[in-house]
Amino acid sequence: MLGKEQYEIVRASSGPEALRRILEQEFALVLLDVLMPGMDGFETAELIRKRRQSRHTPIIFITATSSNENHVGQGYSLGAVDYIYKPIIPEILKAKVQVFAELYRKTLRLARSEEALRLELREREKADAARVESEEKYRKLFSRASDAIIVYDEDGATVLDANKAALDLYGYARSEFLALTASDLESGKSRGRKTGADASEGGARSFTGFHKTKNGRVFPVETTCASVAIKGRKLIMALTRDVTERQKAAEAELMQEREAMQRQLVATVSHELRTPIAAIRAANETLTMGEVDNPKIRGRFLKIIENQAARLGGLVEDLLLVAELESGKCKPVPSEIDLKEFCAELVPGIAVLAKKKSVTIKCDVPAGLVATVDRSHLTGIFQNLLDNAIKYNKKNGSVFVSARRAAGAIEISVRDTGIGIPADDLPLIFQQFRRAPSVRELQIKGTGLGLYIIKTMVDSNGGRIWAESAPDDDGTVFRFTLPEAKA
Ligand code: ADP
Repeated sequence: MLGKEQYEIVRASSGPEALRRILEQEFALVLLDVLMPGMDGFETAELIRKRRQSRHTPIIFITATSSNENHVGQGYSLGAVDYIYKPIIPEILKAKVQVFAELYRKTLRLARSEEALRLELREREKADAARVESEEKYRKLFSRASDAIIVYDEDGATVLDANKAALDLYGYARSEFLALTASDLESGKSRGRKTGADASEGGARSFTGFHKTKNGRVFPVETTCASVAIKGRKLIMALTRDVTERQKAAEAELMQEREAMQRQLVATVSHELRTPIAAIRAANETLTMGEVDNPKIRGRFLKIIENQAARLGGLVEDLLLVAELESGKCKPVPSEIDLKEFCAELVPGIAVLAKKKSVTIKCDVPAGLVATVDRSHLTGIFQNLLDNAIKYNKKNGSVFVSARRAAGAIEISVRDTGIGIPADDLPLIFQQFRRAPSVRELQIKGTGLGLYIIKTMVDSNGGRIWAESAPDDDGTVFRFTLPEAKA
């Protein structure tokens, strides 16, 4: 009669069965026949009402029209919401059931949205509590931080707030501080860098500069700025640290290092000079002790004196160049140099000298490689590397010069087929006076300053130099990079 498609209908043939079903699930409406065998409709209704989950389930009694009014009154007192009289008229039954079904659906919907609302409210409360806690935490951090924290307006200039460390560092009272702008704190030495402007470009930024206190003391600072959004407002937070002590410590350390290096240099230079001076003295003594009249001995000792004097001269020249490079007087004057043309001019002259030692130089530099480099430095670098490649080569050995583009720069290599360098010494040979023990044993002349000079020149021209063992351990490859000239 009700239409199965619209409702889920559960039938019970007795009062106890109806109670069981009601325990198992929730119902929108109970249609209860008053006259049932055993437990009648009223008893069943009474028990339905007593149970918690069905206390409010609407009940419609179905009864014969002949029932007297007492009956009806009893039904209502037991929680009936309506009566349907037999014989049942389908339209009336449908209409009444529809009303209760709709009511149930609405109640369900209401309950669901109430639950969602409750959940949302709880989440919001939690978020509020977390926000309050985090704000509290930040406030504590802000006021107790040992670094100065200053909050600027979005423009990065107007001071909005400052913690105690900031007031102490700059020496202002709070009211004075809040009337300042960023430029009042910066010293002229800071080269006009705007604290806030830097951070407002996005994210956090750190930079160093100079600030000044209320009484004019200028001090170095390290500042980190971050743009933060507080209550929808964009602000700039700057954390500033006075790095005077740190700078002093770093300078003292640097000074100590320099002094140690100077002492080491003086010791090494004295040592390097002592050998040729001793040799010259000994040769001179021999000559003055009478051997000067013996032409053979005189010739040999004069040669010793000449060689050692040349060695001394070479040492002094290299030392002067080192001093000049280190003093910064020898700053590179870069120009655009076509490497193919440069090698075509320089290499043939050196190749003639190489030939005297039976060493061949081969050059393979492609056209179109233009480097930005100081010409006299590049000449010095090439001359030194080629001199070494010839000096430390074997008889009938070769030297290969090549160049290519690599990782946005130009890479030049000078490879030889010489005595090679032990792998452990490869990174060390660029240090002052560092010579491989084998070259001393082989009595190959040198000052141990050439590679140091080359490295200083390559570095100052914006390049990098390193050494590798040639493939199959047959000699050495020196590679260096130079910036490529922009087309
Ligand atoms: P030196 O005046 O001794 O040649 P350098 O500074 O030019 O001084 O070189 C330092 C050391 O590096 C040399 O003494 C030598 O041991 C090693 N060395 C440099 N170039 C080469 C090379 N092409 N082959 C082998 N060893 C080399």
